[in-house]
Amino acid sequence: MSEATGQVKAASAKPKTFPARSFAAQSPTSGLVSHSIVRREPLPSDVQIEILFCGICHSDLHQVRNEWKDVMPTVYPVVPGHEIVGRVTKVGSAVKKFKAGDLVGVGCMVNSDRTCPNCKAGDEQYCNSFPTLTYNSEDKHLGGVTYGGYSESIVVDEAFVLRVSDKLKLEGVAPLLCAGITTYSPLRHWNVGKGQKVGIVGLGGLGHMGLKFAKAFGAHVVLFTTSAGKTADAKRLGADEVIISKDAAEMQKHANSFNFILDTVSGEHDLNAYLRLLTLDGTMTLVGAPEKPAPIAAFNLLMGRKRLAGSAIGGIRETQEMLDFCAANNMTADVEVIPMQDINKAYERLLKSDVKYRFSIDMASLKQA
Ligand code: NAP
Ligand code: ZN
Repeated sequence: MSEATGQVKAASAKPKTFPARSFAAQSPTSGLVSHSIVRREPLPSDVQIEILFCGICHSDLHQVRNEWKDVMPTVYPVVPGHEIVGRVTKVGSAVKKFKAGDLVGVGCMVNSDRTCPNCKAGDEQYCNSFPTLTYNSEDKHLGGVTYGGYSESIVVDEAFVLRVSDKLKLEGVAPLLCAGITTYSPLRHWNVGKGQKVGIVGLGGLGHMGLKFAKAFGAHVVLFTTSAGKTADAKRLGADEVIISKDAAEMQKHANSFNFILDTVSGEHDLNAYLRLLTLDGTMTLVGAPEKPAPIAAFNLLMGRKRLAGSAIGGIRETQEMLDFCAANNMTADVEVIPMQDINKAYERLLKSDVKYRFSIDMASLKQA
């Protein structure tokens, strides 16, 4: 009995911690400033990582500003960041896959229940108990919430750590951990490829990776953008055609012609305009997650037996597959590297759709913060 009590105590005792320099927002309007957090000392299955680069996802901005309050309210202070690339500095006694010095990545999840049917199928992002997200999720080890990649280090169970090739530029690899997998996964799931006309809506972080993957999978790729100035870049990134979505006559020319449309837009926009462009049995999949719900006219779905779907990131196995695909095909995100100190300016530019095409934070800058 006393032995059993001892075991319970050992399991519930909080691990030792160490400090980590980070950037955090204290409220929806505070902006991000330097902030110190603690990380747990690695448990037996944990990997400790020195973060080298972290991408800035629009989800970071949505959550810093508490725009997803109805679904996942933000707990402050929030340390965002889920596009993490770094080097292993220490591993726990039971870690098998990694050793100090390895290059690794961490995406949007750091754990899940691992026992539900979805986890068992490799779809941890759809864990029936909801996955532990990299930030703003319950921290089951230290209490409070998890803290993300705008930080000099992170400690993650090895089951949620990805291998990263040393052949690619790391600043461009970081965004693959979210923007990459979030576009790769639905394009694979809906078997996008040769002989298909595929639309990507919005040329930002997700959109530019969507273009690259859809092109690499052999589809005829069309970009929809609100920014005429992005046309030349879109073609360089893989678009066969570019449509300015505000031009109703141009949109009309493509009615009933798309097999698949991937919508990556972060703000309010009309989904019906895109549903009308799908062919019979065509699918439009939302990955963008705007703050406000969007109205759908039933006729735009029922005429043509069209489907409207959604997709969230990807599982760990598929994320590794995507990273390996990128290494084999020499693919990375197009990034603007910034120091941590420029984070608030970067958020303002993100809101204006003014980034080419992902910000990647050089974490060496934290040492001067
Ligand atoms: P981003 O870099 O800001 O790109 C979004 C793009 O959407 C903009 O560049 C712009 O492209 C277009 N856009 C923005 N506001 C618009 C509006 N009101 N109307 C029409 N077009 C607009 O954002 P991101 O990091 O790629 O993320 C995009 C969305 O995906 C966000 O909502 C994010 O939270 C969500 N997300 C979801 C998942 C998931 O698992 N499903 C994962 C990551 C991110 P143009 O200039 O070309 O028009
Ligand atoms: Zn993201």
